Amino acid sequence: MKMITAKIDTHTHTIASIHAYSTLKENITEAKKKGLTGLAVTDHAPGLGLGDTFPKTYFGNMRKAIPKFVEGLRIFKGVECNVLDYDGTLDLPTTTLQKMDLVIASCHAQVVKPTTLEKQDQLWMNIARNPYVDIIGHPGDEAFRFSFEKVIQEFKKYDKIVEINSSSFPYRKNARKNCQEIALLCKKYRVKITISSDAHFYTEIGNFEEALKMLESIDFPAELIVNRDLESLTAALTHCEK
Ligand SMILES: [Zn+2]
Ligand SMILES: [Zn+2]
Repeated sequence: MKMITAKIDTHTHTIASIHAYSTLKENITEAKKKGLTGLAVTDHAPGLGLGDTFPKTYFGNMRKAIPKFVEGLRIFKGVECNVLDYDGTLDLPTTTLQKMDLVIASCHAQVVKPTTLEKQDQLWMNIARNPYVDIIGHPGDEAFRFSFEKVIQEFKKYDKIVEINSSSFPYRKNARKNCQEIALLCKKYRVKITISSDAHFYTEIGNFEEALKMLESIDFPAELIVNRDLESLTAALTHCEK
């Protein structure tokens, strides 16, 4: 069995998410301390509706403002977009999404209300077809449950990366159980995954422990983990600066 590892945190927040508490510099320092080789900064896009997320210019300017490598660490300029409706509309225009290395699409109940399984299947299938989305954000969230077997095959078809959000295991209802079920299907259909912390404070950066334990327990194929190293992640991200 190949060792299961993840060397880049693909989902992290900074103070630009307002309800997160560390700067990018603090996250970088922590990522280096944990032995990571890369870090994706993925603050919440403006649609979170708290009235306090940063405007689209924050995201659009990232590539210009932040070097590709900072202190030897590869920085991926990303965003956690909100799904706004059951058609799968996102809260940033295509012109901004094109400038990002990495786009996560997530459902948050403050933005889109949980609905029937059928409508949630439709929502995720629409996200699967969006060419600007790289990563399906915290799909283990019980509130936005979908028909795992059916929709995961769509993720495969459209080459999406499924996120295993380590931090959600303890606090999102059924997240651990759902993530395991999802990971087993990703193994079955050979769908790519990424392991992330979803850190809202620097100490959480690179904290993949829960996800790694679960993936090891199901003997998950190491080669399907896109953030196992920089080369595999860069290759898996369609719009990433190469
Ligand atoms: Zn989220
Ligand atoms: Zn997040």
